[in-house]
Amino acid sequence: MLGPNTALARDVAEMLILWPHLDAALERDTGQPEGGRISGGRAELGLPVNADVMLALATLEREVPKITAWAAGVVAEPVIERTIVGHLQQLPRLHERMLVTAAHDEAGRLAAGVRAFSRGVKLAVGLRTPDVPLGQYCPLHDDPLRELVAPGNEGHLRYTRLDGHGQPVAPVVEWVRDTGVTCRHCRAAWAPVQYLMLGRLLREADARRTAAPIDEGAA
Ligand SMILES: [Zn+2]
Repeated sequence: MLGPNTALARDVAEMLILWPHLDAALERDTGQPEGGRISGGRAELGLPVNADVMLALATLEREVPKITAWAAGVVAEPVIERTIVGHLQQLPRLHERMLVTAAHDEAGRLAAGVRAFSRGVKLAVGLRTPDVPLGQYCPLHDDPLRELVAPGNEGHLRYTRLDGHGQPVAPVVEWVRDTGVTCRHCRAAWAPVQYLMLGRLLREADARRTAAPIDEGAA
């Protein structure tokens, strides 16, 4: 595709391909009762789960215009009403503008937001396995307490060109396994070689929280 080859641009390119499949997946899930699909059930491997599809659609419809408007504001551009696809197409350029204008924190925030959208879309269409909660809170913050996870595996679409409908010709899915531990709230991540350090941080956090318990509702 044209434009910058950043992680954000690759996420956007994949979302533009997968977006039409969300609508199709929802129809397949909710329509034609004699077709045998059970709403909300993960009946067969690779078939989208209705709840994940609806959540991904609702999140994109609500959040994509919001983040695009915010990004346009950061680089002092007017906010223009567009479709979701139209908004998504603007994001790589707005991200590049942020980098050029040294708005690095904002560029990082935009990339993280788009990454989160992409994870939701991929979960919905069967291109990602769910994160596995690890039963330990992130040691880096007490408010909010957020459980560390082993990230799910993610499928990346590999293809050489798009057809006239913006869909890849003969795509191949390359599955990538992330072996670390991460916090989806603060985006801290620890690779296996850092687990000793993570263990120390977890013990320190436990001691800190025992000494100064925050409000009971959060426990
Ligand atoms: Zn965290």
